[in-house]
Amino acid sequence: MTDRYAVIGNPIAHSKSPLIHTAFAKQTRQDLHYEAILAPLDGFITRVNDFIRQGGKGMNVTVPFKLEAHQLATTLTERADIAQAVNTLKFENDQILGDNTDGAGLVRDIIVNLNMPVTGKRILLMGAGGAARGVILPLLQQKPALFAIANRTPEKALALQNQFTQYGQINAGSYNQFSGQSFDIIINGTSASLNDALPELPPGIFATGALAYDMMYSADPTRFLKYASQQGAKHLADGIGMLVEQAAESFYLWRSIRPETKDIITHMRSN
Ligand code: NDP
Repeated sequence: MTDRYAVIGNPIAHSKSPLIHTAFAKQTRQDLHYEAILAPLDGFITRVNDFIRQGGKGMNVTVPFKLEAHQLATTLTERADIAQAVNTLKFENDQILGDNTDGAGLVRDIIVNLNMPVTGKRILLMGAGGAARGVILPLLQQKPALFAIANRTPEKALALQNQFTQYGQINAGSYNQFSGQSFDIIINGTSASLNDALPELPPGIFATGALAYDMMYSADPTRFLKYASQQGAKHLADGIGMLVEQAAESFYLWRSIRPETKDIITHMRSN
């Protein structure tokens, strides 16, 4: 029988996850069907339980349900537990396993696909929402020289600094607080690009040879990437690589087989 998987979110029509997982299944010859499910804002748990009752094996969870998914899981991987956000659910033996593959996807995209080491680098993470909290631990595990989090609402960045304090040193605050400093890798983990907005980065923030990485992806360069280019960032990347890599990590959790990502990233970029 064909195994069923899905991505659940609101909105969901834009999601590229069905395309990616269908391509993974074809490549690895796995008999599965992957669909997109729109859940009402107050109906996440009902929709997940319906899907489980229908025999569903696993789900990806996207905006705005990652925190609810964290609460719903009966077991958590360590990285999901620490992030307190879940983007992958696996249903097995009446258990709901919650994982967070966003950070592993980002780190793999930067290190393997973009060939940019994180170890020893000065990292600035912009944003303190669901996406940001998922990537902090995997980035800290790479032992950067310096790790900073800037957020429009600085209290949220400071809360993350406290939450992750045992995993490494974090400097957190408002964007202005990092005036006069420069970073080798600047990651835009805010949703500002969705509204063509730009967080107020102080001038000179991009070090020579810097990588500017926007977790968001769109056909045209985001406002952040255009700004980074004007400010002298040498390498620019959007979130397509992270999207495909986090999907590959979810696929591995479900099917114990790791798909090749390179061709699919190239394909997604050209479509
Ligand atoms: P959240 O809503 O949880 O967090 C939004 C964050 O963006 C907050 O830190 C918020 O700051 C900040 N923000 C929003 N607008 C502005 C603005 N105009 N100026 C400055 N800061 C702003 O969203 P998520 O964390 O879930 O998602 C963030 C982005 O990451 C989205 O674009 C999403 O598409 C992308 N993403 C990409 C993935 C991929 O695989 N490529 C995976 C997951 C997410 P404040 O706290 O002050 O409100």
